[in-house]
Amino acid sequence: MAQGLRFVLFGSPGAGKGTQANLLRDRLNVTHISSGDLFRHHLEQGTPLGLRAKEYMNKGELVPDEVTIGIILDKVMCLPDDEGFILDGFPRNTNQAQELENTLAAGSRNLDKVVHIDVSEPELLRRLGGRFVCRACQAPHAIGEGEDGAAKKCGQCGGELYQRDDDRPEAVKKRIEVYKRETMPVLGFYRERGVLVNIPGDDTVDEVNKQVLAALGA
Ligand SMILES: [Zn+2]
Repeated sequence: MAQGLRFVLFGSPGAGKGTQANLLRDRLNVTHISSGDLFRHHLEQGTPLGLRAKEYMNKGELVPDEVTIGIILDKVMCLPDDEGFILDGFPRNTNQAQELENTLAAGSRNLDKVVHIDVSEPELLRRLGGRFVCRACQAPHAIGEGEDGAAKKCGQCGGELYQRDDDRPEAVKKRIEVYKRETMPVLGFYRERGVLVNIPGDDTVDEVNKQVLAALGA
């Protein structure tokens, strides 16, 4: 079997990495490694790494890099050699990028591409600010500008919609700031290695998907 593509989907919160990853996973037949999903899995299963992460979260502290790195790299190393993967939500800083590179290199592997979905700040603010979740079934809903999300009902179950603290305007601005300060430098790391491609991300999901596939040569 041919070697599957190994790549990172990179971008700010709200850039649509998860949506694109789901489309690409089915199309390219690769494993989707979502840092958020993996974290939830470890927390729910109470694995040793999950328990360590929980200790910090309970204290309201950031989960240290080594725990995050352990959770993701464990998964990467479990994959068969020829299996492709999409990393989504990792690496988030240059230390994590370096650890990923070391681990892959130890198994004579490397990343084929790092695809940066580049969404403008006004568009990010619009998307993140319009994110509401159903209280009953947790289904996400996109609320347009000038609409009152809290006055709407869930399209799936009729439940009440609310905005998570994380998605309120002040929190959204803070998440974008953290991304710029800590995560953007990772782009330089990958640019130096010649694997970075930039995709304009303000467009529709389908249009961005076409461009990502073209960038991957798929
Ligand atoms: Zn619902």
